[in-house]
Amino acid sequence: MNAKQLIQKYNVPGPRYTSYPTVPFWKKNELNERDWLNELNQSFKRYPKANIGVYIHLPFCESLCTFCGCHKRITKNHQVETPYIDTVLKEWELYRKNLPQDIQITELHFGGGTPTFFHPTELVRLLKGILGVNQIDPSQCDLSFEAHPNSTSELHLQKLHDFGFRRVSFGIQDYDPIVQKAIHRIQTFEEILHVHELAEKIGYTSINHDLVYGLPHQTLGGFERTIDYTIQLKPERIALYGYAHVPWIKGTGQRGYDEKDLPQDSEKRALYEMACEKLIAQGYIAIGMDHFALPTDKLARAFSEKRLHRNFMGYTTQTTKFLLGLGMSAISDSWSGFAQNEKTLESYQDQINRGELAVFRGHLLDELELEIRSYILSLMCHFETTFQADSRFKETHDFIKEKLVPLIADGLVRIDDSTVSVTEIGYPFVRNICMAFDLDLHHYQGGKPLFSATI
Ligand code: SF4
Repeated sequence: MNAKQLIQKYNVPGPRYTSYPTVPFWKKNELNERDWLNELNQSFKRYPKANIGVYIHLPFCESLCTFCGCHKRITKNHQVETPYIDTVLKEWELYRKNLPQDIQITELHFGGGTPTFFHPTELVRLLKGILGVNQIDPSQCDLSFEAHPNSTSELHLQKLHDFGFRRVSFGIQDYDPIVQKAIHRIQTFEEILHVHELAEKIGYTSINHDLVYGLPHQTLGGFERTIDYTIQLKPERIALYGYAHVPWIKGTGQRGYDEKDLPQDSEKRALYEMACEKLIAQGYIAIGMDHFALPTDKLARAFSEKRLHRNFMGYTTQTTKFLLGLGMSAISDSWSGFAQNEKTLESYQDQINRGELAVFRGHLLDELELEIRSYILSLMCHFETTFQADSRFKETHDFIKEKLVPLIADGLVRIDDSTVSVTEIGYPFVRNICMAFDLDLHHYQGGKPLFSATI
């Protein structure tokens, strides 16, 4: 089967596997605070020395990008900043009262929304409240933030660097003015050059650029120019995401253009392949799915040393079993359970201000799900996994092996004894390979697609 035929065959809706089970298959639609705290405490007892990662969702944006799939609130009113930070600090206190006092935070990430919507002073107040210090040693805790180039000031970069941040991720998406107009996100190369150089000058050692392929009106030539601009700036990391077109899930936000404006199947894949080829030729290493890093970057080292981890923040170098998600819509992970916060600003704030955690749904993993989770995680991070020899679920292994047969026949994957390895041809199809392990998907009877296309 040639590349085009493979793309046609495997371009089906599929998860990105930042968790297993994936969110649409979580079973607790009404997870309450008591259940969640109980789960967290049990898990901390099982892994008493475990460190934690903290994700903080900062949901405000000044204007709507029409391709966006994030939980956000569009406003130009900056008076929302202080009450929101107050609420996140209250939420943290609710957790602190209920968790072991000696937990170590080894990773903290500001996502959004637009973290740089907030004034640097508010961001620093939040950090001090959570970490309890005025500054942190970057070798002890990996601090990073997402930055919108249009709202990132020198003060943001300087204050956060002073606190201990060394990583920043700029949302670029595409430099083509026609694409930028369609997605309602106008930012010139000169503006990005300015903010990128500022970050370098201040001392950020790991700068990431987020790019998106598959956006409306994207052409091979136009996207090639975007890649050339990116190479010119040589960020340490590049995330090259496929645009997830899911207007039936994301509502009106993704309706600013027609489906006919989007590059389809092999056209879309060609954008990725062109980018991939150019980046690798420039010395970048392809990491897991959709990510590239210079060999000197921690992410590349973690990948080559098989220490890469993946959670709701994406790929990370910290293999923490716990992730506490703070803020509206944030997701937490106790390794054997997941919980998501209320998705609207009002319900999140109301609940925390009543003195309760704002979790509203989640999932507690059983033994089989934990095992499948470890297989999928390993495939996503290392492109291979080994069936556990002492597992009680040998029948499930056989079931999965059967599901892998067509993928083996197409040359995407190999099985030697009990080790499943993704072949080089199979790398772009790693989501499809994980789908063979996904018992929920195999048993799904509903008609409507739950995920965006894998290609
Ligand atoms: S892409 Fe980022 S800046 Fe744009 S609306 Fe979404 S969260 Fe806000």
